[in-house]
Amino acid sequence: MKALVKKGPGEENIGLEQLDKPSAGESEVLVKVHATGICGTDVHILKDEYPANYPVALGHEYSGYIEEVGSKITNFKKGDRVVSHTAAVTCGNCYYCKHGLLMLCEERKSIGSGVNGAFAEYVVVPAELTYKIPENISMDEAALSEPLACIVRSVIERATVKAGDSVIVSGPGTIGLLTQQVVQASGGNVTVVGTSQDRARLELAKELGAMDIIVVDDEREQEKLQSIMGTFDVAFECSGVAPSADNCLHLLKKTGLYVQVGLFGKKILFDHDLALMKEINITNSYASEPTSWVRALQLLESEKVNVKPLISNKLPLEEWEKGFDIVMNKGGFKVLLEPNE
Ligand SMILES: [Zn+2]
Ligand SMILES: [Zn+2]
Repeated sequence: MKALVKKGPGEENIGLEQLDKPSAGESEVLVKVHATGICGTDVHILKDEYPANYPVALGHEYSGYIEEVGSKITNFKKGDRVVSHTAAVTCGNCYYCKHGLLMLCEERKSIGSGVNGAFAEYVVVPAELTYKIPENISMDEAALSEPLACIVRSVIERATVKAGDSVIVSGPGTIGLLTQQVVQASGGNVTVVGTSQDRARLELAKELGAMDIIVVDDEREQEKLQSIMGTFDVAFECSGVAPSADNCLHLLKKTGLYVQVGLFGKKILFDHDLALMKEINITNSYASEPTSWVRALQLLESEKVNVKPLISNKLPLEEWEKGFDIVMNKGGFKVLLEPNE
């Protein structure tokens, strides 16, 4: 089968390879991949900013059809439409595994970084971490379940957003626009902040129900920006760039809640004394729990979250370079690659 493989460190060490078609172990399922989204994490792996276990097929935000089930599996059958949690390998015994915090297990290997992922015709995953896609959700939409599950973890499981809270979402990429929608589903009023590069994304934020949008590097918006400093209950930093983190800290009111969602890919300068003097609560959110997936699929099924407008491009896997370029140059929203096209 063909797969997009990163073979080792270095941005040039990536390309399409022929791999043996895998098969399902006794507690696993083999999934024929429909579509896989390109994630910021994939770009970090490409640039050696996120750990990976080379050589490895990338891709973790996928939807697909069950092709084969392991001998012990009775709750799935060939043809079922599925998505799955990414933590394919864990120890199963540590404090974190026992508390559902699979992403924190020392032995965790996730699809697309630790073990072969879904930028491939087939992917093998544990049946236990596989979920059926609600009938009213298309396969393309379902490919966004993984980022949505991560946002459920951020907004519902790590943070608390109360009805009527005023909330900043900084960084209107896919993650930011999903965060906005989950916050809105929790009753929060969202102001989305971005740069002049994000104008189209900010317009979409507005269409998706944002109370306000602000272009932080637009001179004409500085007065408005200054007038709302120190007024927000909660801030979600979704862009993974230091000036955005700083901006969130200033926008929060004293005792506000700061939630780090984006990955910086490097150490950053952060004004912790300012956070201390404002008694800011700081929390971080990393990947998802199995419970996050259940909630994410409910949010999709009930149409409280609409991922359709977030899908901007669909390309065959062969055009992965074009897809990565679009993501790196912020030329679209979510780019899906189709390995079986
Ligand atoms: Zn992702
Ligand atoms: Zn463990």
